[in-house]
Amino acid sequence: MIPEIEQLLIIQDRDQKLKELNSDIERLPLEELQAKERLKAATTSVEISEKAFMENEIAMKNIELDIDTRKDSITKLKVQQMETKKNDEFAVMEHSINNYQSEIVKLEDSQLELMEKGESLSETLQHNKDNLAKDQKIVDSELAIIRERKIQITKKVSELEIDRKEISSNIAPDLLDQYNRIFKSKKGDAVSELINDICSGCHMKVTPSTALAVKAEKVVTTCDQCGRILYI
Ligand SMILES: [Zn+2]
Repeated sequence: MIPEIEQLLIIQDRDQKLKELNSDIERLPLEELQAKERLKAATTSVEISEKAFMENEIAMKNIELDIDTRKDSITKLKVQQMETKKNDEFAVMEHSINNYQSEIVKLEDSQLELMEKGESLSETLQHNKDNLAKDQKIVDSELAIIRERKIQITKKVSELEIDRKEISSNIAPDLLDQYNRIFKSKKGDAVSELINDICSGCHMKVTPSTALAVKAEKVVTTCDQCGRILYI
């Protein structure tokens, strides 16, 4: 094999690895985002159950106030009852007192319902908070793994780049430029083996003179069809 092609094959190997590692690095921010997105559902559940719990608390306080207002009215009416001497007035007041009392019974019933509801809302809230804490732990460790991978990949990339630079210094700049152009346009595959006069890059048969030139191994020869550098 022509020594320069041997060097190019090593460079191509480094370049293919670099390409893979760089696309791994490019994917990391998305992976990070996806990990964080996983917290969204759990966070929303906590927010919704927190809101439902608070609304229930407010409803209970309002009922408490409604009951207190009616109790105050009853107290006032009882004072007025003691002061009045008219039987019909007394009866009207008695009627109002009874109304307020039956309203209080109803309010106390719904207060009890809300208290029971509050207990189950509080359980749901705690359950959702626990889930969020669990998810947070998982996501935190996922993010730590992603960070560590980034460090490792970056390290590997700079090692490969140094290695590539060293090997490149043994190759004529013109040939290296040619290789770089083909590697870029053929998306990671610039040096191809000629097998049975067929270029393994484009799978086309080369002309007899090209096949002869490749086999002679005197000069760097490219495929007639795709322009890839050929070796045998
Ligand atoms: Zn070809």
